[in-house]
Amino acid sequence: MNNLHDNFDREHLWHPYTSTHNPLPTFKITDAKGAELTLADGRKLIDGMSSWWCVIHGYSHPVLIEAAKKQIENFSHVMFGGLTHEPAIELGKLLLSILPPSMNHIFYADSGSVATEVAMKMAIQAQNNPKRTNFLTIRNGYHGDTWNAMSVCDPVTGMHGAFGPALPIRYFADAPQVPFDGEWKPEDFDSMKKIIEDNHANIAAVILEPIVQGAGGMRFYHPQYLRELRAICNKYDIVLIFDEIATGFGRTGKLFAWEHAGVEPDIMLLGKSITGGFMTFAAVAATAEIAEKISSGSAGVMMHGPTFMGNPLACAVAIASTRLLLQSDWKNKIAHIESIMRERLAPASDFENVQDVRVLGGIGVIQLKEDVDLASFQEKCVDKGVWIRPFGKNAYIMPPFMAISDEQLFKLCDTLVELVDPSQNA
Ligand SMILES: *Cc1c(COP(=O)(O)O)cnc(C)c1O
Repeated sequence: MNNLHDNFDREHLWHPYTSTHNPLPTFKITDAKGAELTLADGRKLIDGMSSWWCVIHGYSHPVLIEAAKKQIENFSHVMFGGLTHEPAIELGKLLLSILPPSMNHIFYADSGSVATEVAMKMAIQAQNNPKRTNFLTIRNGYHGDTWNAMSVCDPVTGMHGAFGPALPIRYFADAPQVPFDGEWKPEDFDSMKKIIEDNHANIAAVILEPIVQGAGGMRFYHPQYLRELRAICNKYDIVLIFDEIATGFGRTGKLFAWEHAGVEPDIMLLGKSITGGFMTFAAVAATAEIAEKISSGSAGVMMHGPTFMGNPLACAVAIASTRLLLQSDWKNKIAHIESIMRERLAPASDFENVQDVRVLGGIGVIQLKEDVDLASFQEKCVDKGVWIRPFGKNAYIMPPFMAISDEQLFKLCDTLVELVDPSQNA
């Protein structure tokens, strides 16, 4: 018999951010298809998380399975040093056709965090100036869990507390306050502007998530912020890095979030949904200018080269996933999901324990005034047949938008509202 909770798992396996002392329960999954997860006891859950942004087409999509099988039968991996292959080339062509026009070079990486590391290294190499080696970001950001990625995550909700002096010290501007659809106020840019004016001689790059700050707060900010940032980075010759690992491939209603502002970065990060959540993979895109500066800098080459760089299996799946998305009516699908979430999550804005309800594209957030009690929340979710995993004060959903039906989405939204409703959880 299959147990819903596994003892070996509980006693020997780390899960993300868990203690070995009385860890929160994990639920065993035995099958995942479309927008549904099947538990070991046979019950089904409607997935509200897309397994952290990535499973945009739903689980076990036949087109992705077929692409993976075909590539596995051919060859699943060869080194990228000195060798190349059709999946890498085809994916490169496909990505350059949908990225900002200024993007010209692509570096394939293994995961989002590694992509962040690579982008930060690119910026340092492009500056090629021993004085300009620091980074600037905005509070409430999230860029991954490796060392340098941690250093530019939010200093309060990120991992600075746990790692303290082990982390390099970065510049943090105030997080933008004017919401995405609010009225722009120039003061919103003051903190960023001042830090740049005072410290540009030390700063190699600004790194941030465009429009949507994900894991660091689920915040949607005004596009004008990015236009101001592009202008000042040009003025002081600072490299601008957009981390689109969470926002890429349609999630915010545009194919990529930079399009909301019409502002092109110098370096752009892709990850998560690049393979439709099928497997780990990421890419770092850079302009011709960045590539040129790196290649004429002191090292003369881009100093990074992971073992699984350009993994053919991941490239083949990424091609299939991206084509599947581009051939679909994803824009209408997202707009439809957005309107359902706006309508169905709205009742929560009247609850006394709710700070804010906001929706953008395929992301719906109920921000509470206090932290959510994760253990009891998750248990109730599972009992009600949905999978939602809150973080801090934010209870949010970002369903597999290409796979979810209206009925499934209604149930997700209504259950989320019910679970935060103080009158039903007294
Ligand atoms: C998830 C995420 C990362 C890190 O990606 P991993 O694949 O988990 O290493 C980096 N940046 C953003 C914006 C993310 O959402």
